[in-house]
Amino acid sequence: MNKVKVMVSGACGRMGQEVMRAVLNDDALELVGAVDVKNAGTDVGTVIGKAAVGIKIGTDLVEVIKASHAEVMVDFTSPSSVMKNIRLALQQGVCPIVGTTGLSTQDVAEVKELCQKLQGRALIAPNFAIGAILLMQMSVQAAKYLPHVEIIELHHDQKLDAPSGTALRTAELIAEVRGTLRQGHPDEKEKLPGSRGGNFAGIPIHSVRLPGYVANQEVIFGGLGQTLTIRHDSISRESFMPGVTLACRKASSIQGLMCGLENLLD
Ligand code: NAD
Repeated sequence: MNKVKVMVSGACGRMGQEVMRAVLNDDALELVGAVDVKNAGTDVGTVIGKAAVGIKIGTDLVEVIKASHAEVMVDFTSPSSVMKNIRLALQQGVCPIVGTTGLSTQDVAEVKELCQKLQGRALIAPNFAIGAILLMQMSVQAAKYLPHVEIIELHHDQKLDAPSGTALRTAELIAEVRGTLRQGHPDEKEKLPGSRGGNFAGIPIHSVRLPGYVANQEVIFGGLGQTLTIRHDSISRESFMPGVTLACRKASSIQGLMCGLENLLD
């Protein structure tokens, strides 16, 4: 069986390093390239604290794609670089597997159009951890019976976007089943602006940023005389890797733009 050729964009970051380790350990995948804006020319092995693997960090995405014949680009960069990387990958016939969060609705629409125009394929997944996907599915189920809900997401303090992609996606999915709802007291006043959090279709979303966290989320439902809390904790970045490698392995089965890892699960 031919291995899927994978390159990693954002290779020297927290997630990029973990992805390179996971790809190197997966028999069905071959790491063929790595791109970052830092550590140019450094062997990937040095970046992940292992013996040299013979792949050097490049800085030019297109050059790396052409030299490596990559079929898949896993992107864990930043909200400000991800769209450029997606465009370049699709133009080169490479399937972007996007974990970077912070894409806007317009960005996602652009990727969808580009996939149609170039007959390309792409996956955008705000969360690759199976537990987080189950949390979203269970939240949809709970919202049918307990429509009053708030979301608290807790991440490490170096995260650039707020709220998290997972919190937004959870709110979006809940809103699809319960619609927009005016929760709480109609005369409620914020004495400190922002204290009731962000608002997506009437669902308050609260973002906590502290050292020590990786990625955690609570969805709290309230009903008459009861609350229900569904919580997921990624305590290490390894939690995302089975999802990332599965997406790489199944990339050729994706048609157009796919949003959410759940669409690739059996
Ligand atoms: P990080 O800051 O540790 O790493 C980002 C890396 O990208 C850095 O090494 C940086 O130098 C590099 N980079 C920046 N611009 C680049 C460019 N144009 N080309 C190539 N490399 C570039 O961040 P992180 O913690 O690894 O997170 C990365 C992204 O992944 C964030 O958006 C985060 O929210 C997201 N994330 C998603 C999931 C998921 O399951 N989908 C899980 C965790 C994190």
